[in-house]
Amino acid sequence: MPCQTSGELKLLVKEAKRYTKDGKVADYIPELGRANPDDLSIAIHYPDGRCISAGDIDKKITLQSISKVISLAFVLMDRGFSYVFERVGMEPTGDPFNSIAKLETMAPAKPLNPMINAGALVVTHMINGDSVEDRFHRLLGFIRELADDPAIGYCEKVARSEYETANLNRALCYFLKQHQIITEDVEELLDLYTKQCAIEMNCLDLGRIGMIFAMDGRDPLNGKQIMPEDVARICKTFMVTCGMYNASGEFAIKIGIPAKSGVSGGILGAVPGKFGIGIFGPALDEKGNSVAGIKLLELLSKNYKLSMF
Ligand code: GLU
Repeated sequence: MPCQTSGELKLLVKEAKRYTKDGKVADYIPELGRANPDDLSIAIHYPDGRCISAGDIDKKITLQSISKVISLAFVLMDRGFSYVFERVGMEPTGDPFNSIAKLETMAPAKPLNPMINAGALVVTHMINGDSVEDRFHRLLGFIRELADDPAIGYCEKVARSEYETANLNRALCYFLKQHQIITEDVEELLDLYTKQCAIEMNCLDLGRIGMIFAMDGRDPLNGKQIMPEDVARICKTFMVTCGMYNASGEFAIKIGIPAKSGVSGGILGAVPGKFGIGIFGPALDEKGNSVAGIKLLELLSKNYKLSMF
């Protein structure tokens, strides 16, 4: 079913777009610095297959940190809850996503949660498979199934750009390896992690993945349980407690929707039992969230009373 342009969403996008000038595109991954800061688009996916949108929803974005919630779901299915949570915690941090500070100060160097880089690297480390290639394709297959889009791939340029400059993530990996939280070759893990972050899709795909989380892991159109209900519940809980970096508390109060953002400017939202949301707006605030994307979600949440609290 094609996605319908919505007049109401168009008006909200127009209003939220005024805030793009308050943000900046991420450029610590050089390739991301090429994004147009004025872009803003949204797609909403309903469980009955309907989709409404506004803005240029064909534009492709890399998942970046949004991939963290999907890789978490995948390893929970691969390895089971106790194995995963022995190696990564469940608590939010007030620290930036790429901080190393708590690893040093909190024995036994176990990352506090899977949504910060240290925790996400451990999660990616736990993806089963015979090689980086095999592990990547297993994860990609899962993402294609969630989005119901077999054409999803990754952007090699963005992956390479991040891999070549990922010295902070390298440092996190070596720290984790020193404490035996990860055991594989650091360059292999970074190769897999940067490819995972560079998985590319449009807002429609993102909205459809949000819808699967919103529907407790079940694809309502074919009745298939793509991930167990418990896994979807845990992922949504992390989205609420740590999905929007160290702005998650304020986001929960003002907006109240499980969501995960990435430094490319994407936001994946899952309104429990109702619909999924995909947003793209690359101008970021100082915490790393899409500045206009957050504004757009705030307007949506207020207008349609979407807060789950
Ligand atoms: N690939 C990015 C990194 O590890 C993801 C960060 C993000 O989107 O927050 O730095």
